Amino acid sequence: MSFEALGLNPFILRALAESGYEAPTQVQQDAVPAALDGRDLLVSSRTGSGKTAAFMLPSLHRLSGVACGEVRGPRVLVLTPTRELAAQVSGAAKKYGRYVRDSRVVSVVGGVPYPAQNRMLAGRYEILVATPGRLIDQLDRGRIDFSRVEVLVLDEADRMLDMGFIEDIETVVAKLPTERQTLMFSATLDVRIARLARNMLRDPLAINIASQEAKPDIEQRLLLADGLGHKNRMLEHILRGTDVQQAIVFTSTKRGADLLASDLEQSGFLTAALHGDMRQSQRNRALDQLRRGRLRVLVATDVAARGIDVQGISHVINFDLPKSAEDYVHRIGRTGRAGRAGIAITLVENREYRQIKSIERYLRLEIPMHTLPGLEPKSRLERPVDERRPRPPRKWTGTRTAAPGGRPPSRSGEERHRGARPAAAGSKAGRW
Ligand code: AMP
Repeated sequence: MSFEALGLNPFILRALAESGYEAPTQVQQDAVPAALDGRDLLVSSRTGSGKTAAFMLPSLHRLSGVACGEVRGPRVLVLTPTRELAAQVSGAAKKYGRYVRDSRVVSVVGGVPYPAQNRMLAGRYEILVATPGRLIDQLDRGRIDFSRVEVLVLDEADRMLDMGFIEDIETVVAKLPTERQTLMFSATLDVRIARLARNMLRDPLAINIASQEAKPDIEQRLLLADGLGHKNRMLEHILRGTDVQQAIVFTSTKRGADLLASDLEQSGFLTAALHGDMRQSQRNRALDQLRRGRLRVLVATDVAARGIDVQGISHVINFDLPKSAEDYVHRIGRTGRAGRAGIAITLVENREYRQIKSIERYLRLEIPMHTLPGLEPKSRLERPVDERRPRPPRKWTGTRTAAPGGRPPSRSGEERHRGARPAAAGSKAGRW
């Protein structure tokens, strides 16, 4: 299928051609026509699948139609969980809307000084991309008029719920016109998302891409570690590999990220940290350097790394385990971008093996254990005694689900990972 066949405005097609996009991705093929028809959507699609264009292209098409008088305030509102994702969505809106006349973008996120933000909100704009906290702050100060909002997009809705934004989202939505189109995107579909969808969407079309497009190009590996010293040695060994173009190393704490970044810097790697205690300007600088290829290693915490889209990331290394299987999926999704291959390596100690089993049950595959020559672990893997016997995965049968809700979708697409074998079925994506 071509972009022309989707029925988008020629100005948008021109921008897409200049971006080098040849054909719509699966989520774009499924979501764009329905959104152009004005339908509400509930889309389960991972980051990396082209989901931003899936909601931004039909929204821009709408803006390219009838102009909307002199009233100020956004016509399209996009809510994102993090500043980084907001920056990425704003960038995409500007890129795809380059030739659409009335498609000015304003971003409202925390950590940015008020005066500049206030000036932008006082001007004319059509697209507002915001994180919930600062948006409510600006709403309370009377700086945003929602009366002409036609489209609401909830991007990474599951993550917003994880981050405790539910009340903020409800507060925002209560202030929006009821006559609007709502497009909800989420990496996972679970009971909470179903509840949110019930309250905010009208007769939505549910589109499930996540299970199909699940990152076929990410090779996942486990390395058994004896302890911190062993982890550090293995990390250095991996990072010295010639196959490593750029890497993101995940730690569980901000302090851990700072310490590890400074250790790696001292070992000669071009490294920066990225976490929520850093000023926004520092975070932007780190990401900018990463994008320009001036950094080889970024040591990050989960929240800060959310939404990073850098095509040079060849490796994701979980120095510390993620808090949940969903976080694991988001972490490894930082590599294998735009169809490139990627490697995700998780360092795990024996006492943490139960968490790995939980991830494997969620993904419905078994992540192969590797060793590094000369750095083999002294300990042997002790599998928990109650480990369930593997059963074949259940088959996923289609792109579109009849109704939102229930269990997370099956992950049959993941089974294409190299070396992956089916593991026990029936897990929940809960935290441990
Ligand atoms: P997203 O899932 O929105 O984070 O997009 C992932 C990456 O895919 C981004 O770098 C986009 O620029 C890129 N992308 C999105 N749509 C297409 C397309 N149709 N063809 C090629 N690249 C695309």
